[in-house]
Amino acid sequence: MRNGHFITDYHCHSTVSPDGHNTMREMAEAAVRLGVDDLCFTDHIEPLPWDRWNEPPREKHSYDWAPMLAQFREAQEAVGDRIKLHMGTELGECSFAPDVADSFLDDAPPLDFTIGSVHCYRTASGEVNDLTWITSTDPAVWYAACESYFEEMEKLIDWGRFQVLGHITLPLRWAKELRGVELDFDRYEEQLRHVMRRAIEKGLGIECNTNRGHLPLPDGKWLKMYHELGGELITLGSDAHTPEYISCAMEERQELLKDCGLRYLATYDRKKPIFHKI
Ligand SMILES: [Zn+2]
Ligand SMILES: [Zn+2]
Repeated sequence: MRNGHFITDYHCHSTVSPDGHNTMREMAEAAVRLGVDDLCFTDHIEPLPWDRWNEPPREKHSYDWAPMLAQFREAQEAVGDRIKLHMGTELGECSFAPDVADSFLDDAPPLDFTIGSVHCYRTASGEVNDLTWITSTDPAVWYAACESYFEEMEKLIDWGRFQVLGHITLPLRWAKELRGVELDFDRYEEQLRHVMRRAIEKGLGIECNTNRGHLPLPDGKWLKMYHELGGELITLGSDAHTPEYISCAMEERQELLKDCGLRYLATYDRKKPIFHKI
């Protein structure tokens, strides 16, 4: 407990991820120090080769789960029962090669939780492009990317082998943090409503990514919409890639969820949601 709040963090990365910096043990020990009650590791697994998105997809059944299991065991031994640890993953770009993603999941050890995320989109010429690769400061370029981003999210929902949709307003983050471009997502109100409605129908949740204390993804307007559409499955995740951001701004974001009408925060155990009153 921290400041009267049950603290969960359902989005963080260790060195099992290509862009992680600390082991699960280091992340878990930091989480204990920070008063986190329930931490879920969500390292990146991608059916496309990391950062070489236009190369052919990875071979089916080629994901090696052993490092994740080994690190998780080590972290668990280090922290004992001082914190609840869960093993999950952030599945990225699965809409681009769902058959490969299926094969990875078919080989998976028992997972508690999976996030389905889109970080890439298709350009007009059909290339797979990472949102972080956009160097333009022209909003029109970003909006064109967003159109494709939403199409990939629709395909991801069709595929559906995950528990929550990750950071559904991600382009806002990269446009602002990398290029200083303020996008207006009000123009995507219909797309966001459609995405949320379909997720709810399929029994999928969403996350509120606290984005290391910066702009929540999604923020209040869309969280309210999620609630009004009847959505009740929501996790909070920091997206920490280093220990200092673990559980960042969780009390404030719990208050935000409450202000938007949401009553429960979800954690997951073997892919089954557990609801915590906020
Ligand atoms: Zn992500
Ligand atoms: Zn992440």
